[in-house]
Amino acid sequence: MTLSTVNLTIDDGTIHLPADNRQSRPAGAISYAVSVDRGHQFPRRRNFCLFLGSRNLQFRLSTDSRTVELREFSLKLKSFIDQTIRLFLRLNPIHNMPSHPNAGDVKLTFLTTGTVRIRPSMRSQPASKFGLVRRIRSLLDREWTEPLPVGVFLIHHPEGLFLMDTGQSPCCNDAGYFPKLAIFNGFLSQFTIEHHDGILEQLHKLGIKATDLKGVILTHLHNDHAGGLEDLVAEAPSLPIYVSREHWKAFGEHPTFASMEGATPNHWPQDFSPMVFDLQDKPLGPWKQSYPVTEDGKIQIVDTSGHVPGHISVVVYGNDGPGETEVTYFLPGDATYGLDLLDKEQPDGINDDPMRALETLKTIKEFAKGTDVVILPSHDVNTPRLLAEKVVYRPHDEL
Ligand SMILES: [Zn+2]
Repeated sequence: MTLSTVNLTIDDGTIHLPADNRQSRPAGAISYAVSVDRGHQFPRRRNFCLFLGSRNLQFRLSTDSRTVELREFSLKLKSFIDQTIRLFLRLNPIHNMPSHPNAGDVKLTFLTTGTVRIRPSMRSQPASKFGLVRRIRSLLDREWTEPLPVGVFLIHHPEGLFLMDTGQSPCCNDAGYFPKLAIFNGFLSQFTIEHHDGILEQLHKLGIKATDLKGVILTHLHNDHAGGLEDLVAEAPSLPIYVSREHWKAFGEHPTFASMEGATPNHWPQDFSPMVFDLQDKPLGPWKQSYPVTEDGKIQIVDTSGHVPGHISVVVYGNDGPGETEVTYFLPGDATYGLDLLDKEQPDGINDDPMRALETLKTIKEFAKGTDVVILPSHDVNTPRLLAEKVVYRPHDEL
């Protein structure tokens, strides 16, 4: 959320607001996160974006002052900025701040790394086994969906903080970001993402460093799910990244294939060696196998292949404080782009295996028939509301 963009100057660690921008300030003192946007005088270069992408300066702004004091100021940034250079700084109210969970709580925070518009035929098509025809239909579609979230979940657990997925990279619209083999990406999806929308910056705004994370669970390695990896691992080189064995064999061991299928191996961390896990023979609902991420089994992984080989979803057994009702969450990643599609059993149009994707949708519905579950797709515009109101998904054919 951008409140306003103003042209500011930095002088010896103090930001000066020009008088003609006074009206852009809201009444009352308020905390802001500041991200530095590239001014026109800077070439659109990747290094510059990454450099500034890791800054997160916080300050307080009071109504009767045109000068604000920085609470945190990076020496690196200070030395980089000449006092006479004017930069475009964006003021963003700090929002989506989770209440501090109590010890023992298992809670979710939904973050979105910008938005994406995709072709309606890519979002869904009636079930059929002709994968290639489905993909061609998606490519020929000239319509766009409304902007959809590019979701990431922050999972609060007594063992620590976990991320499910890492969202899109703020650099994704820079020339040369995608591998040369990713020729169809631009036809199928359009991302809108600001520099402060990157997952690392959003974590910083919440007061969380990448080193504070216990692990990152990747549903799969598509660019809009693994786009934040590079920045996270740069800050926390030993951060455990969970990837399923089947997916790693399909994508991780075949980066050329992965590039053609919508991944960006050119932005995976150097010598990327994630924690490749095997599902265990521990039944969970209709699934014969699962993988417990935490010792208490409150974060579990199940197979939801079809969108890509070895795609996984996360089951979180949450609660909201002592004595509060327990809630089961199901985070399907891209197994379905929306609850309406899950209900209609319509797989997406660009998946690897449409019939396996259909089986996955049926299995998720079966799970929902046996368990009260809040299902939160990563690209569903309703996900923030479904999470806030803890809306239990009822399969239509059950009503
Ligand atoms: Zn995907």
